[in-house]
Amino acid sequence: MNSNLTTERPTFVTHLECAMMGDRYEADRLHNLSKAGKPLLVRYDLPGVKKALTKDALKQRPDGLWKWRELLPVRKAADIVSLGEDATSLIRMPKLEKKLGGGEIIIKDEGRLPTGSFKARGLVMAVSMAKALGVKHMAMPTNGNAGAALAAYASRCGIRTTIFCPEDTPEINLSEIALEGAHVYRVNGLIDDCGKLVGQGKEATGWFDTSTLKEPYRIEGKKTMGLELAEQFGWDVPDVIFYPTGGGTGLIGMWKAFAELEAIGFIGPKRPRMVAVQAEGCAPMVRAWEKGEEHAPRFENAHTIASGIRVPRAVGDFLILRAVRASGGFAIAVSDEAIQAAVDEVAREEGFLMCPEGGATYAAYKAALADGRVTKTERAVLFNCATGLKYPMPKVTATLDRTKPIDFTRL
Ligand SMILES: *Cc1c(COP(=O)(O)O)cnc(C)c1O
Repeated sequence: MNSNLTTERPTFVTHLECAMMGDRYEADRLHNLSKAGKPLLVRYDLPGVKKALTKDALKQRPDGLWKWRELLPVRKAADIVSLGEDATSLIRMPKLEKKLGGGEIIIKDEGRLPTGSFKARGLVMAVSMAKALGVKHMAMPTNGNAGAALAAYASRCGIRTTIFCPEDTPEINLSEIALEGAHVYRVNGLIDDCGKLVGQGKEATGWFDTSTLKEPYRIEGKKTMGLELAEQFGWDVPDVIFYPTGGGTGLIGMWKAFAELEAIGFIGPKRPRMVAVQAEGCAPMVRAWEKGEEHAPRFENAHTIASGIRVPRAVGDFLILRAVRASGGFAIAVSDEAIQAAVDEVAREEGFLMCPEGGATYAAYKAALADGRVTKTERAVLFNCATGLKYPMPKVTATLDRTKPIDFTRL
């Protein structure tokens, strides 16, 4: 048994705070958005964490998301709902590095998490908090991976789930969500249209709205990517992070993680340059970044094969854009053709099967290396956020007739 799941540890949440206005909200309560309609961020007594937590103590604990308890909102071990959220591997890509003549390329492989995507990090936290706070029914709009993670964790602790997907969501995602015990529906619209249904049904059902960033604890789960990465880098950070950006929870979460780690003295002031990667067919953040704006209006007719980043409007837009700018990073869009070519190239050359969203980060890295926005001396981390096995793959047409003579030299 993983002792992170059973050991009581001191916790340090003081309150929640509107990410826009800075007004305070009570800890250990159910919350959606702030009064201003913006995401809430969980705040900690960081001087207290600094006294209570050492790098050595962390090193003694088993790896995985729940080793970071002092920086997480769940108070009691009994409320932890876990399916085994292990630390994810960093994998070097030496052949690609050599071919591009560039710097270090390191993939953080989030596809190894429960339900095959990093949505598990966010949802394990949201569901554990929902369990702690007595929620009986959760609802969410999803392009697939978040719904699967919600369904899995909620079913595990007896919370009912209702999940809405855009109608063209791949069958495999709906099947997974249904099999994990959710009530799941295809809706004739995009993810923000599905989100509206969650809002509309709230009064009639009493379900809890678990939409991206409309619930404050998911970001705390996603934050562990930044905590974990810094520890894996020997309490340092990479030079640049390429992050496939939909709602932006992970990018915002990692940015928060680095600030908290600096506040407790675990890392210095250096930050990675944060690069928000989007698809050309759905690039609201790239547009807003290029125009120098703080908010990103809805991107109409959004389309891309990278369904996890097909998010036409993000409630945390200003947090994504602030982090990208403050870090000296940038936002970049890549075409679906470049995404597919990137997935093919990484699989063929390095034997690593990325999801399309992960492929987008490699396509963006190549483009940025070519135009000089990333240099050969930089260590880059690319996020592969789901296993490539969840996505459509090319058909194989080759057959062999074993009853006939086979020329093995031609296979
Ligand atoms: C959800 C998702 C993303 C986008 O993550 P955000 O943190 O919401 O921007 C990227 N890739 C995959 C595979 C996803 O499921």
